[in-house]
Amino acid sequence: MSKVMTSRRGFLGALGGAALAPRAFPQQPAAADGRQIGYAVVGLGRIAQGQVLPAFVKCQRSRVTGLVSGDPAKAARLAAQYGVNPKNIYNYQNYDQMSSNPEIQAVYIALPNGMHAEYATRAAQAGKHALSEKPMANTVEECRAMIDACRSASRKLMVAYRVRYEPHNLTASRLVREGQIGTLKTFVGDIGFNIGDPAQWRLNAKLAGGGSLMDVGIYMLQAARYISGEEPVEINAQMFSPAGDPRFKEVEDNILFQLRFPSGVLANCSSSYGHAGVNRYRAVGTKGWVDLEPATSYTGLRLRVRRGGIIEEHTLPQADHFAAEMDHFSEAILNNTEIRTPGEEGLQDVKLMMAIYQAARTGRSVRVAS
Ligand code: NAD
Repeated sequence: MSKVMTSRRGFLGALGGAALAPRAFPQQPAAADGRQIGYAVVGLGRIAQGQVLPAFVKCQRSRVTGLVSGDPAKAARLAAQYGVNPKNIYNYQNYDQMSSNPEIQAVYIALPNGMHAEYATRAAQAGKHALSEKPMANTVEECRAMIDACRSASRKLMVAYRVRYEPHNLTASRLVREGQIGTLKTFVGDIGFNIGDPAQWRLNAKLAGGGSLMDVGIYMLQAARYISGEEPVEINAQMFSPAGDPRFKEVEDNILFQLRFPSGVLANCSSSYGHAGVNRYRAVGTKGWVDLEPATSYTGLRLRVRRGGIIEEHTLPQADHFAAEMDHFSEAILNNTEIRTPGEEGLQDVKLMMAIYQAARTGRSVRVAS
């Protein structure tokens, strides 16, 4: 039975103290042909320490060869833990000097949202490929600048939409595309958790770009798009933040948005920073449904499918999402293959989130180009 997770820590996965405790790091496996991409991890916060750095050991094509941090002691400790040569530690000022370091071919940007554009652009200018955490950036303009910078430098750009590389979401998407639930009619997705400290960057508009939508609602927006395989043409939305709550002076708490797709599929999604926690979606067709709960947690995902009146649970491997996404990017760099979630995919979500905010602010439907 799946455990219901009620905090961001629980429901997004194991980011707890245990994951951050120092431990011996096993040697990274070399791929059979020895071809690997060396990454510098930029920003050594929770996602970097809890997920990205530990995932390298599960990668075939990706290894950590550099670290970027404003905290030299933390960087030195993590370099020792993960076998990174101390000469490959950079800070935010000398970051550009990576240009002369052939051991680093790509960066994994794990900084607050409002810093992704600057550090992807500077990476490209230093000759490095950029894998940026989600959301890609705070604005459409920043996303476009990232795409342009990478294109001009002939570097690759990917957005770290990890669930696009894991079996449960991939299977759900495939079942819908194969028509196994008939014709898709509706998609319903809800996500959220109760955010804590009012002083954290996620509640600062300049660093976060927005509230629960930019942080986690984006997962449901993404899912509505990859499950339906369509782009929305019309958006409605409402948002609400409790007056007097010090956490929501700059960004939204609750937001609810509806998407209409060209085929007539309708999606109804919500995100929240103020409730007990939920993480699920269900796509309903004329002959059945697919349901993921939790849908985007790091582990423990559950996929159930109803067909012909029978509900089946699919038992699939619980893959490391971060290792899968990093190896996908490394393969794309090594073999010049297509990236499933390139910068254009991140840009599309940011465009749509801006339209969701516009609909919520104005109380009017917003039409978007399909
Ligand atoms: P975090 O606050 O734990 O880490 C951010 C890091 O950036 C810290 O090391 C901090 O020192 C550094 N930093 C540098 N300049 C900063 C500044 N001006 N203000 C604040 N921090 C600064 O955040 P996090 O949870 O690791 O999130 C980082 C990124 O990863 C965000 O874009 C977030 O959306 C994304 N994220 C993705 C997932 C996922 O599942 N893919 C999960 C969590 C976070």
